[in-house]
Amino acid sequence: MVKPFPSKTHIGNHALHPETLMLNYGYDPQLSEGAVKPPVFLTSTFVFPNAAAGKRHFEGVTGKRPGGAEGLVYSRFNHPNSEIVEDRLAIYERTESCALFSSGMSAISTTILAFVRPGDVILHSQPLYGGTETLFAKTLANLSIGAVGFADGIDETEVTHAAEEAMGKGRVAMIFIETPANPTNGIVDIAMIRRVAEGIGKTQGHTPLIACDNTLLGPVFQRPIEHGADLSLYSLTKYVGGHSDLIAGAALGAKALMKDVKALRGAIGTQLDPHSCWMISRSLETLSIRMEKADVNARLVADFLRDHPKVAKVHYLAHHDPASPAGRVFARQCTGAGSTFAFDIVGGQAAAFAFLNALQIFKLAVSLGGTESLASLPASMTHSGVPADIRERIGVLDSTIRLSIGIEHPSDLIADMAQALNAA
Ligand code: PLP
Repeated sequence: MVKPFPSKTHIGNHALHPETLMLNYGYDPQLSEGAVKPPVFLTSTFVFPNAAAGKRHFEGVTGKRPGGAEGLVYSRFNHPNSEIVEDRLAIYERTESCALFSSGMSAISTTILAFVRPGDVILHSQPLYGGTETLFAKTLANLSIGAVGFADGIDETEVTHAAEEAMGKGRVAMIFIETPANPTNGIVDIAMIRRVAEGIGKTQGHTPLIACDNTLLGPVFQRPIEHGADLSLYSLTKYVGGHSDLIAGAALGAKALMKDVKALRGAIGTQLDPHSCWMISRSLETLSIRMEKADVNARLVADFLRDHPKVAKVHYLAHHDPASPAGRVFARQCTGAGSTFAFDIVGGQAAAFAFLNALQIFKLAVSLGGTESLASLPASMTHSGVPADIRERIGVLDSTIRLSIGIEHPSDLIADMAQALNAA
């Protein structure tokens, strides 16, 4: 096992920041000829020093013995490139443990299956990423796992009503939130969700775990565990990978919880391969500067759209009145608005199609969080699996265009928006 390499946590009395600590963690250059960067460990299996160590390592990775893996065993369970990134992401998120996955969806589904049983119910915010919505409505429903959604993540009364409805259907094992939501930027008050979870615990005798999809802002602009969530989940395909060239996911939280997630990951084989892990370790080094630059760009594009006559509404966090309930939660919970948001174009689907077809710099593609700017139409693409009535209720309209703002020059992005709106 590549031992953590916290060469320095302090300089004198000065404690190093997670962003700095992370870059030196989990890999000791002495292990590989002094190479500053870790090699890609392309191996499926690892030599045990002796039979007793092999037995002990297996007990750790299969969850038979508490404490998890003590050594490297087999790359479906653990491997050096995943452990390096897991150590670093956990430091960034200021939590104890991280598990990487072959995609955001495998992180989400493995985490849910680790804690939820047939007959249980998941209480969840809406909208969710379309794939998660479909996971709940089809795959988990077929396993007799129920789901009850709430559309307003700020209103405690609405969430409490949804919690009562959920408890009427079975044991509420998990509250799953996505904040801000893809694509509407709907915000969920995590501290309020903690209160609701504790209330459910008092009534049913089991406090549900709170899992938060942190893909859109984390770990740079939001760390849900600091606000009361138990687990922070990611599609690393987005900002953390950041270059639209890999598919990956992660789950983070306390060791005691992550032990079960890792045991299930090993059992069903949803681990991430060494090469993609290596690419993520490289991406982590520029994560904060990419997200910060895209955040500044997004603000400029969102402000331009707000004032445009062909735009009916911009769904962008930093446009909330700071005195409004959503504005207050945003200020408390997030340190930036990020760079994925949506707007409703005047003229319905026909105008949306014309706008998207006219774009010259923005690429017409799903996904988000890359260095390049992308535009898509969720109702016809990522969220097309969500029934039309639910889409309408949660504000994913035929005219709702999602933008993922990249790190290009902002005036070029605005020029592209202007000409495409003229063509719509
Ligand atoms: N969560 C969010 C918020 C997403 O936007 C996505 C993908 O778009 C996912 C999860 C799923 O991630 P992946 O495509 O890596 O499986």
